[in-house]
Amino acid sequence: LMMYVLAAMADVESMKYKDPKKPLNARVNDLLSRMTLEEKIGQMVQIERNVASADVMKNYYIGSILSGGGSVPAPRASAETWVNMVNELQKGCLSTRLGIPMIYGIDAVHGHNNVYKATIFPHNVGLGVTRDPDLVKRIGAATALEVRATGIPYAFAPCIAVCRDPRWGRCYESYSEDHKIVQAMTEIIPGLQGDIPPGSRKGVPFVAGSKKVAGCAKHYLGDGGTNKGINENNTMINKNELFSIHMPAYYNSIIKGVATIMVSYSSWNGVKMHANRELVTSYLKDTLHFRGFVISDWEGIDRITSPPHANYSYSVQAGVSAGIDMVMVPNNYKEFIDDLTFQVKNNIIPMSRIDDAVRRILRVKFVMGLFENPLADTSLVNELGSQEHRELAREAVRKSLVLLKNGKSADKPLLPLSKKAPKILVAGTHADNLGYQCGGWTIEWQGVSGNDLTSGTTILKAIQSTVDPTTQVVYSENPDAAFIKSNKFSYAIVVVGEPPYAETFGDSLNLTIPEPGPSTIKNVCGAVKCVVVVVSGRPVVIKPYLASMDALVAAWLPGSEGQGVVDALFGDYGFTGKLARTWFKTVDQLPMNVGDSHYDPLFPFGFGLTTKPTKN
Ligand code: BGC
Repeated sequence: LMMYVLAAMADVESMKYKDPKKPLNARVNDLLSRMTLEEKIGQMVQIERNVASADVMKNYYIGSILSGGGSVPAPRASAETWVNMVNELQKGCLSTRLGIPMIYGIDAVHGHNNVYKATIFPHNVGLGVTRDPDLVKRIGAATALEVRATGIPYAFAPCIAVCRDPRWGRCYESYSEDHKIVQAMTEIIPGLQGDIPPGSRKGVPFVAGSKKVAGCAKHYLGDGGTNKGINENNTMINKNELFSIHMPAYYNSIIKGVATIMVSYSSWNGVKMHANRELVTSYLKDTLHFRGFVISDWEGIDRITSPPHANYSYSVQAGVSAGIDMVMVPNNYKEFIDDLTFQVKNNIIPMSRIDDAVRRILRVKFVMGLFENPLADTSLVNELGSQEHRELAREAVRKSLVLLKNGKSADKPLLPLSKKAPKILVAGTHADNLGYQCGGWTIEWQGVSGNDLTSGTTILKAIQSTVDPTTQVVYSENPDAAFIKSNKFSYAIVVVGEPPYAETFGDSLNLTIPEPGPSTIKNVCGAVKCVVVVVSGRPVVIKPYLASMDALVAAWLPGSEGQGVVDALFGDYGFTGKLARTWFKTVDQLPMNVGDSHYDPLFPFGFGLTTKPTKN
C-alpha cells in the first residue's frame, strides 16, 4: 500500500502543470521541462482556420488558430456553429501526449465584427471623440462576452495606433492623433480581460476567466506614423518622437496586464519592426517587463524581406531572434516548422529563445484557465447582439458624433431638427446602408455593402421611426435638383461618405468623398435647408461644400446602431463630442497634427459644437 501511495504521490507531483493550485511559474516550468523541440515549436505556430483540422492540430502540436479577416466557418454561422468548430479543433490538441490547449484568436476590433448578428460598435476613430474611458471599458466587456459566445478566447484588439496622417487606410482603427487620448482608451483592456488584481507583478498577463478574452495591443511600434500614411511603410522619426508619441499607450497596456502584443508590419527608420530586436526584446520584454507573448502580424515575418518571402530562412531567423514568440504563419506551417527546427538543431537560434517564447505562450494559457476549461459551451450564445449591447453601442454612437456646423449664422441653428415637419427629404449613399455605417473589418475584411449583416438600424430607418407619424419621409439616394424643387421639403438630411475599406486598400492621397456624394450635397443643399452627416473613417475633403450646408455632423463609422445618430439629430440627446483628430482644409497640409507649428485647420483638434437635449 505504501508503495502505491508513494507512486500516486509521485504521479501527482510529476503532473504539476495540471494542478491549478500550483504557482504559475511552477506550472509553466514543469510543462516546459516535459516538452520535446517539436512540441515547443508547435506552440509558437498560429495557423489560419482554413488550413486547420483536428488532425493538423494534433500532428503538428499547433498552439493557436486565427480567423483572419472574414475567415468564418460559414457566412452566417450561428454562435453554436462557431462553438462546435472551435471545440472540434481543440479536441485535436487535447488528444496529444501533453494535452496542451490551443488558443483561438480573431479580429474583434469594433465588437465581434466577423460574426453575423453581432453588435457592431463605432470604430475607434469615433470612440476617441467620446473622451470616455469608462464607456470604452464597457464596450470591451460586451465585446468579450460576444466573442466568448462563439467559443473564442482571444481578440486581436485594441489597436492603439496613434494615427498621425489620415491618408493612412487604418486611421479609423486609431482613437486619436493625440497619444494621451489613446492612452486613456487603453481602458478597453480591463474591459476585455478584466481588472488586474491589486498587487499584481508588473507585466504579468491577466485574463479573468471564461467571460473575458485575452487582448492584443497592436501594432508595435509606430504603425500610425508612416510616411504619408502609407500602410506598412516606414516611420521616419527620431527616437524621442517614437517614444513620446507611439510608445506611451504600450506602457498603459502593460500595466493593465495586456496578454499579448502584436508587432507592426511597418519599419522604423528603415528597420522592419518584425526584425527589431532592440525594441521587441530589449525594450518591451527587458525594460518594460512585458511577460505576455509577442505575436507577429499576418505573414509578418515573410514581409521582413521585400518582396515578401524572398528568403524565408532569413525571415524566420530575424523574426524569432527579434523576440517574436508566436508566429501568425498563417498558411504554410510545415515550411515554418521545418525551418525553425533546422535552425534550432544547428544552433542558429538558441534553445533559450524557444523556451522564452513557449514560456510566455503557456503563461497566457495557464492564466486564462485554458488548461482547466479548454472546451467552450453554448451558455453565452444569447450575448451575441443582445439588446443590452445594442443599447451600449447606441450610447457610444451618440457620444462619438461631432457637430461641426449648426446654422448659416450662429443665431439660426438648424439642429435639433423638428420631428413634426410635414415633409422631409433623406438622401445620400450612406443613409440606408448598414455595411457602409460599419466600415471595414465588418463581416468581410474589406467590409460590406447593404443591410443584411446584422440586426442593426440604418440612419434612414431610425429617422422613420423617430419622427412624428404625420411627418412624410421621402428617401432618394441621389435626387436631382428638379425632383427636390418639385417637392416642398421642410429640410433635408444628407448622409454621404466613404465606402468601406481596410488596411492598404484604404490608403488615399486625396481623401475625397467619392461621387455621387458631392453631387448629392450640391443638389440638395442648393435647394433646401440641409444637414450633412458624413460617414467616414477620417476627416475628408469638406471645405468646398461647407458654405452650402446649414449643418454638418461627423458620424465617423458608427456601426450597427444608426439610431444613435438620429437621437442627437432630433434632440433626444445633445451633441457633446469633440474632435480627436484635426480636420484639414486641403490634403497638401498633411500631415498636420495639433501642436504643429504650421497648424491651420478647417476645424481644430478639440472642436465640437454642443446642443442641449430638447424635451419632446
Ligand atoms: C492586420 C492585423 C490583424 C491580422 C489578423 C493583419 O493584416 O494587420 O491587424 O490582426 O491581419 O487578421
